[in-house]
Amino acid sequence: MNVTLRNGCFSYAKDQPVLENISFDVDQGEVLAVLGPNGVGKTTLLKCLLGFLGWEKGEAVFMGKRQENFRGSSFWKEVAYVPQARRQTFPYSVEETVLLGRTPYLGIFEKPRRKDLEIAEKAMRMTGVEGLRHRNCAELSGGELQLVLIARALCAEPSILIMDEPETGLDFRNQLIILNLIERLSHEEKLTVVFNTHYPEHALEVADRTLLLDNSGKALFGKTEEILTTENMEAVFSVKIRIVTQEENGKVHASILPLSLIGEEKR
Ligand code: ADP
Repeated sequence: MNVTLRNGCFSYAKDQPVLENISFDVDQGEVLAVLGPNGVGKTTLLKCLLGFLGWEKGEAVFMGKRQENFRGSSFWKEVAYVPQARRQTFPYSVEETVLLGRTPYLGIFEKPRRKDLEIAEKAMRMTGVEGLRHRNCAELSGGELQLVLIARALCAEPSILIMDEPETGLDFRNQLIILNLIERLSHEEKLTVVFNTHYPEHALEVADRTLLLDNSGKALFGKTEEILTTENMEAVFSVKIRIVTQEENGKVHASILPLSLIGEEKR
């Protein structure tokens, strides 16, 4: 397995667990979606996986090695993180920002070499942002900035890409661009992708496996179509839903219709 979490537990305050005995595994080239209601611990889970927060119990294993056993920048050569675009401001050009992804390979005052520039070029091409190279990141649209942040992550040539809500706040077209890119990176480049999302339909579209967190700190994990059932989603989100499917060019696409709140009168 490429990424494994065994019995991960975390709390910010004593006796108020956010994550309790969370386990999952995901293979090289697979996509894992992390879903659950607001405030359930999705971002916290990513921060723990990346070592920004320490697990109280349990262990995260990347390519057979425990996260805390990676030394220096070696972890960031294998694992790249794409933070939420809407929380970022960069005063740099697109090209400079993408090149920052080479940081794990460069000494403190070392300038990027020809090889670094070539890798940055490839990352920009893969994400379709090469035409924006001279634009200032502070002036980009949300969709463009998201692609630039993914290009920056790819610049480290990682095996694993961890993304925090990569398609939140984007319009339909840009959401599809990001989802298509996730599919391409996993199928063609064999990258393992872990992403948090608010959209079960996006998990159904691209994720091989899904981790569905609930408000009690626990989680369901398994193949996406076995986890994102009407029954499980209604229980976790407390909303009556219907899954509507539509076939297009031989592929079945699912849409989730929220019908009514469960356990609360409509105000
Ligand atoms: P999600 O990403 O699913 O919306 P988060 O991981 O951001 O959820 O938050 C999970 C819970 O932890 C929430 O109740 C949130 O209020 C709490 N929380 C998040 N960050 C902190 C923090 N730095 N200190 C204390 N509590 C936090």
